[in-house]
Amino acid sequence: MSGDSPCAHYDCIGIGAGPANLSLASLLHDHRDITNLFLDQKTGFDWHDGQLVPGATLQVSMLKDLVSLTDPTNGFSFLSYLHAQGKIYHFINAQFDAVPRQEFRNYLKWAADRNANVVFGEQVLSVDFDRAFTVRTDKRTLTANNVSVGVGSRAWVPEMARLGERQFHAGDIMTRGTRLGGRRVCVIGGGQSGAEVFLDLINRPERDRPRRVSWVSRRPNYFPIDDSPFTNDFFGPSYSEYFFTLDRGVRQEFNARQLLASDGISESTLREIYQRVYLLRFVEGAHDLVALYPNREVRTVRSGGDGEWEIEVANNNHPGVVRRLDADVIVWATGFRPARMDFLDPIAHRLEREGEEFRIDRNFAVRWDGPADRRIFVQNAAVRQRGLADRNLSLIAWRSQRVVDQLRGERSDEQRESFIDWSTKLGPEDAAQVVFG
Ligand SMILES: Cc1cc2nc3c(=O)[nH]c(=O)nc-3n(C[C@H](O)[C@H](O)[C@H](O)COP(=O)(O)OP(=O)(O)OC[C@H]3O[C@@H](n4cnc5c(N)ncnc54)[C@H](O)[C@@H]3O)c2cc1C
Repeated sequence: MSGDSPCAHYDCIGIGAGPANLSLASLLHDHRDITNLFLDQKTGFDWHDGQLVPGATLQVSMLKDLVSLTDPTNGFSFLSYLHAQGKIYHFINAQFDAVPRQEFRNYLKWAADRNANVVFGEQVLSVDFDRAFTVRTDKRTLTANNVSVGVGSRAWVPEMARLGERQFHAGDIMTRGTRLGGRRVCVIGGGQSGAEVFLDLINRPERDRPRRVSWVSRRPNYFPIDDSPFTNDFFGPSYSEYFFTLDRGVRQEFNARQLLASDGISESTLREIYQRVYLLRFVEGAHDLVALYPNREVRTVRSGGDGEWEIEVANNNHPGVVRRLDADVIVWATGFRPARMDFLDPIAHRLEREGEEFRIDRNFAVRWDGPADRRIFVQNAAVRQRGLADRNLSLIAWRSQRVVDQLRGERSDEQRESFIDWSTKLGPEDAAQVVFG
């Protein structure tokens, strides 16, 4: 069913066409029996383009594309993209340690462009329900039996931030951070975004390079992402299923404790930064260019006159020791929060909640008081119920397959279970221990 088809009723309407819903759109593409349409408010596809600094790479395996982990023969795979572009041999010979993020972004755009059911430049304004969902956009009104919400995240900064030309989020570095030569820049935030922005700034040719680049992080040091095999098990289906069964408090505690499994800095980025700082300081003699302040909490940011910012940072081990940093420009690399879903307001009172999230069932459908065969699926909106993997690329294909199965009334085969026994299922010998242990 084409996106500009006169048919105004669909089996599934997707709201948002980032990687999460694009995965679903790709899996549905060849299922002609399920009419579907995916709408995105952006004028054309982009994938965090405002933060696509030179040299940025994908933090996961290229096999974690839109479809491969659930349907390796699907024509929307990363491999299909390389092949369709005629560059599959070159890609192999390039021997990338990690796929350039620009290349993966181009792949995602290719997948969006070749799917007529994916439409850009149309914002969903509201979703209501009367036997079917009524989806109102800024252009038309449609109806659907099911809705898949994949609206991703939005940039977040603390209240003290004064966004504008001289203070901006890391997500705008490519547009706002172009003319920083000779200025003092302070990057606040010690995750991958902060690291990439910091590296980009100190890597610039001398005439475009800031005079000083400080990097402040609340974390005790610039910590790496844990990409080791058993930690990566947290990003597989078996663990996601197990996590879903845990008590709410246990889940939250786990997400906080394991944050670095998803939010740490790539080791290659850390190595590059360290080597660059070495060269700048000891070989090129740029003694004052770089200042590193981990283990610091930003207390206040004040305008100091003459267009400069006075940033007060406290040492976490010595909260009484407060230092003042002066900067001309602040880049807030303070992360993202789930995007708002105000368009669900007309039916919000019918949807179950768990804290800030909608409560989902095992198949990512929001629990609600409507008919069981009318569902609102949420993609990348249940990190507290499904674990850290919910918000990155690791499980997008598996999760979308779950949704496809629901739409088609099927149950796809799963891969073998993890080597690790995450479950609480007890064998006979365990039962004895529970009773007598
Ligand atoms: C810089 C950066 C790099 C990342 N790199 C990796 C990585 O290497 N590996 C990894 O696993 N994860 C990575 N992530 C995390 C994650 O994979 C991405 O954030 C991913 O884009 C999430 O996909 P999504 O579809 O859920 O959301 P998004 O990509 O944010 O897409 C949501 C879409 O919904 C649209 N939308 C919102 N509201 C509406 C509306 N009302 N109507 C219509 N459309 C709407 C938006 O325009 C947007 O296009 C990265 C995140 C960032 C910020």
